[in-house]
Amino acid sequence: MELKPKLTRRNFMKLAAMMGATAFLTTYKSEIVKAVSEVKDYWHINWLNGAACTGCTISFAQASEPDLVQILTEITVGTSGLPIALPDYMETIHPASGSLAERLKDERWAQGTPGRRVLIVEGAVQEEGYCTIAGKDFRDHLKEAGEVADAVIAVGQCATYGGIPAAKPNPTGAMGVSEFFKEVGINKPVINIPLCPVHPDHLVLTIAAVMIGATPDLDEYGRPKAFFGKNMHDEICPYRPYYDRGIFTRRPGEEGCRYVMGCKGPITKTDCALRKWNMHISYCVETNMCIGCSEPGWPDKFSPFYKPVASLPAVLGVDFGTLGQGLLGAAAAGIVIHGVKRAVTSGKKEEKEE
Ligand code: SF4
Ligand code: SF4
Repeated sequence: MELKPKLTRRNFMKLAAMMGATAFLTTYKSEIVKAVSEVKDYWHINWLNGAACTGCTISFAQASEPDLVQILTEITVGTSGLPIALPDYMETIHPASGSLAERLKDERWAQGTPGRRVLIVEGAVQEEGYCTIAGKDFRDHLKEAGEVADAVIAVGQCATYGGIPAAKPNPTGAMGVSEFFKEVGINKPVINIPLCPVHPDHLVLTIAAVMIGATPDLDEYGRPKAFFGKNMHDEICPYRPYYDRGIFTRRPGEEGCRYVMGCKGPITKTDCALRKWNMHISYCVETNMCIGCSEPGWPDKFSPFYKPVASLPAVLGVDFGTLGQGLLGAAAAGIVIHGVKRAVTSGKKEEKEE
């Protein structure tokens, strides 16, 4: 008897949200491959790099389920026989180089060329003059590509919200793709997949969703709700029972909640705790703590990293919307505040003894 629900365009992202990106990819791999192979049009991919460390490219290359070889050899789009994610243009891996690479990109991306186009952007957009590729400003590359794209995906914290290049004092005027599009009058939605770096499962699933027409439902910051709809601290952190009992770590490696160390889980929406990294082995909170890289305003809004989140909702473990719901929350808050105080006090005592 078949226990798993049938995969359709409608429930594609819903199932991804329920199961977590990685489990969804594993469970529905053959159905996803089939759905992509039935797509009518071939989708050209243009992957542009602005102000970035190329970490998102590396992360994508380390995809594990499916891995990059499977992506390039087993998942073909429509009747083209071509892989789902073989960018026509991607500086770090495309086989052509120099003027040939630029010419091929322009030809395949030009209006009138058969197929549809998905633009993937890695890295922030800076003011004119700071990033020039093949003699042309990155802003012009991006504007031209954005104008003809059928779908736009910004990957990683820098392309989504500006990331580290946009940190104070932001000397190059760095910003994310949506902000740049607003500035130059391109009025089309940008699917923001943040994190530093982007998670390959998020990206592979989003590309597949776009191609089969299962457009992801986005939150107010342009993020797919399927991946970024949950507050990590309130909904999915396995260390939450420690928080509720007031057991806090002060150093990586100790057992307990990382709140006192400065964990930003209480103000971060992401599915990291379910999905994890590197073949589902571990994630930031397991090895240290969350620094909030899925959120707009990062890193400034989350600095200093090693300081507990100060706002009231985070301290109470509930948001303002649920604060009025009764005494239960207040009682829990009392336990938590007591726990936090106890941990901070015992830490001070330890420091004196050292
Ligand atoms: S503070 Fe961090 S480690 Fe502690 S429960 Fe919240 S998200 Fe988990
Ligand atoms: S756990 Fe936090 S810091 Fe780590 S990748 Fe997820 S959002 Fe970023």
